[in-house]
Formats: sequence, C-alpha cells, structure tokens
Amino acid sequence: MKVSLSELSALAGEGGLLEGESVRARAAGIWNPDPIAADAIVRPRDTQSVSRILASCHEQGQAVVTHGGLTGLVGGALTRPGDLVLSTERMNAIEDLDETGRTMTVQAGVRLQAVQEAALEAGLEFTLDLGARGSCTIGGNLATNAGGNRVIRYGMAREQVLGVEAVLADGTVLSSMNHMLKNNAALDLKQLFIGSEGTLGVITRAVLRLRERPASCCTALLAVESLDDVIQLLRHADRGLGGTLSAFEVMWRDYFRLVTAPELGVTPPLGRDHGHYVLLEALGGNEEADPEHFETVMGAALESGLAVDAVIANSGREREALWALRDAVERTHDAGPPITFDVSLRIADMQDYLSQVRRRIDAAFPDNQTWVFGHLGDGNLHIVVSVGDDSDETRHKVEEAIYGPLQAIGGSVSAEHGIGLEKKPWLHLSRSPEEIETLRRLKATLDPKGILNPGKVI
Ligand SMILES: Cc1cc2nc3c(=O)[nH]c(=O)nc-3n(C[C@H](O)[C@H](O)[C@H](O)COP(=O)(O)OP(=O)(O)OC[C@H]3O[C@@H](n4cnc5c(N)ncnc54)[C@H](O)[C@@H]3O)c2cc1C
Repeated sequence: MKVSLSELSALAGEGGLLEGESVRARAAGIWNPDPIAADAIVRPRDTQSVSRILASCHEQGQAVVTHGGLTGLVGGALTRPGDLVLSTERMNAIEDLDETGRTMTVQAGVRLQAVQEAALEAGLEFTLDLGARGSCTIGGNLATNAGGNRVIRYGMAREQVLGVEAVLADGTVLSSMNHMLKNNAALDLKQLFIGSEGTLGVITRAVLRLRERPASCCTALLAVESLDDVIQLLRHADRGLGGTLSAFEVMWRDYFRLVTAPELGVTPPLGRDHGHYVLLEALGGNEEADPEHFETVMGAALESGLAVDAVIANSGREREALWALRDAVERTHDAGPPITFDVSLRIADMQDYLSQVRRRIDAAFPDNQTWVFGHLGDGNLHIVVSVGDDSDETRHKVEEAIYGPLQAIGGSVSAEHGIGLEKKPWLHLSRSPEEIETLRRLKATLDPKGILNPGKVI
C-alpha cells in the first residue's frame, strides 16, 4: 500500500481501520466466498473523513475501491492486493425525513430496506425495490443505477434521487444535495455519479424522493402459454389498471419448475407445465375499490384466453410467497457455478432472440441448464446458464452465445447490473467507440491519476 496504515487510521477515526486477518475474514461479495484481496479496509463516518482519506490517496497514488453491501453482480467491488477498500458501513445515518417535501436525506451506507421501512413509518414510500434490499446500500444502488421490481412504474434509481453528495478522487466535496423536483440551473452534476460504479467519485450522501404510501397492493400470478400472449397481457394489464401497474415479472417454465421443485417443500401456486408465469402487481389509491377492479382485469385476461390460469394473493403472506418464487434466484446456483446475464432488448425482439440463444447454447453445451426470468415489462431478461464449470474459456463461450445476437438488434449487455469487471470485455457491443472515448475523457478529468476503482468499466 502506498498510504501508511497509521495515517489512514488517524483519518478514519477510532475503530475505522481494518487490516490483516480482519480483512481476510470478509468475503469478497454476497455470493463470492473468496476473501477480500485488498490490504486494508477504511471505514469513515462522514463526508469530511472520506474527503481527507481520498485527498491523501490521490496525493500518493493509492488505489481505492468503494464497498457498499457487496451485492453487486458484475465484480465491480472486487479488489487486488495493494488496494484500499473504502467501506461505507459506518455511514449509515438517516439524517432527515421531510414529510411535506417528501424527501429523505441519508448517508450512503444506509441499507435500502432501512430506507423503505423509515419511509413506511412516515406513511410514505421509497419505491426502489430489489431482492438484495436487506444487504445493499443506497450508495451502491446509486453507483449501479439499480433497477429492480418497480421500474415499469417509477423508473430506475436515477429517477428516485433528487440530490447526491460525492467526493472526487482528489478529495473535493461536490455537494449537489438538491431537494427539488425541478432544478435546471445548468447541468445536473449528480448524474455523473449515478451508474458510475465507483469510478468517478465516492457517493457519501443522497436526497431520496419519496411518494405517498399506496393504499392498496394487488398481486397475481398468471400462467400464460406463449410469449406473444405475455406481451399482449402486458398491454392489457397496463391499459386496464390505469397507470397503477407496478411490476410485470416473468418466469419461464424451467425457472418456475426449479423454484417449485418438490424437494424444496414449496406448494406450487399454479400447475408447473405452463410456458410462462407472470407476476403482476398494482399499487393504487383506493383500498376498497382497487382489489375488485384488479380482479376484473385479471378475469378479463382469463376470459380472453391471454392467461390460462391465475391466482390472486389474498394476504400479505400470500403476496410474499409469490414474490419469494421470483426472488429465489439462488436456486440457480444449486446445479453448479451459474453464469448470469442481465440483457436488455426490445420486447418485440425477445422471441427471436431467445430462440437464437437457445440454439447457440445447446450447440456448444448440449447438457446445459438454462433459466430465463426477469423484468419483462422493462425489456430486461435475466438468463442464467449452468454448464458444470465457469472457467474463463467456458464463460467466454457462453457469453458469445448470449451476446452474439444482441448487438444486431440494438440490445444492451447490461440492463441494470452495470459493467464492473465481468461485462467490461463486451461493453463495445452496446456503446460506440465515441461513447467509450467520452467515458475515458470524463474519467481522466475527474480522476486524473486513476485511483478510483481502477480497471473497472472501461
Ligand atoms: C439477490 C439479489 C438481487 C438483485 N436484484 C437486483 C435487481 O433487481 N436490480 C438491480 O439493478 N440489481 C439487482 N441486484 C444487484 C444490485 O446492483 C445490487 O444489489 C446493488 O445495487 C448494489 O448495492 P451494494 O451496496 O451492494 O453495492 P456493492 O456491491 O458494494 O458495490 C457495487 C458497485 O458500486 C460501487 N459503490 C458502492 N457504494 C458506493 C458509493 N457509496 N460510492 C461510489 N461507488 C459505490 C462499488 O465500488 C461497486 O462498483 C441484485 C443483487 C442480489 C444479490
């Protein structure tokens, strides 16, 4: 390490520095049991402390990798020997909740679930939601511009934040803690850090946008045979539910069978032989009338033949059980190391795209197991492929099968997880040389010595 441990210890405050075994004892990621490879972990408590630490690292050319909840799925938080981890785990205060302005001001290390719960207590809601809610942090959500389960209604993390404070590589504090919905006083600088995966600055605080807590939540699981019918169902539901459709998640048959396998002791809510399973949710403002209307819209889907079977959740527990199926992504790890994908494409292209992908994977790995599920309403599919090993060579072949057909149809190699290390070799399929060059120039301007998350994204 280029910065001395005693200096870091002084900058981080009491108990703020971990080294040696305390570092090695930590896993590199929520699904990655390898120990953290960095030399030390510094755990500041506030923005000023982050600023002093980065100023020192900048001066001495010390590489810094920011850690939030370590739930990122593209290796963006991986470290190498010699790196310093800057963890936001002690920056976890909810500083203010403004009920009138419907904003919450938080430090970057607050867990998403803690934010959601604090908002609910005030009769409000923070609408970002994803399966990793109990572990991921607001800083990580913003740094990856996380998507999740309600993008179709509320947009991605970017659209749910009004202000961001970030520290640049040289220690400059760039505080754009805006509280207003409208602010066109020149360029919106906070956007530079949203989705930048820790490469342009360390996010230290944020002003989050809250909404009124919905009065009703209606959830259904529908069995649908063809993908064409799934797509028509999306339009039917969106039209029928009058702007309240908040989730439209689809599980293909193989995924549904995996997460309802008899040995898991789960009672499948619907027969296991249908082509697709759509988890559909509406959040509305009328506790009495909304469930009835929801039932009418679902009933019409059944009557018209778009759906062939359906179950509507009658309680919070039933709702959670339906979501648990969609969130049981870890079951895909049971068959061996999973190779996971998060692609984005036009809904109209999905059928052809998936047929091509299946053909390519079957040709290269006849014994593969492949599961497809995801936020179809957002054009976002998750594909998990298991072929027994995930060596670099195998991974590359699988990636070629998945990404090959994507470029021609203008799809994206990353819908919501980011680029990190894992998707870096494929970024050129979704971004032009001019775009990549502009990203490089931005990096060189904000982090001229390249100390922040070196080697990631570009
Ligand atoms: C079960 C599960 C479900 C998931 N579901 C979804 C989903 O539906 N949608 C979705 O978009 N993603 C999903 N994810 C991945 C998602 O990107 C992360 O869960 C989350 O947004 C990352 O937050 P984190 O605090 O864990 O960040 P980390 O994993 O710690 O870091 C992720 C990246 O952000 C950087 N970073 C972290 N904190 C900061 C900061 N304060 N300032 C600057 N850079 C920072 C890191 O350096 C790294 O590059 C899921 C992950 C899991 C495990």
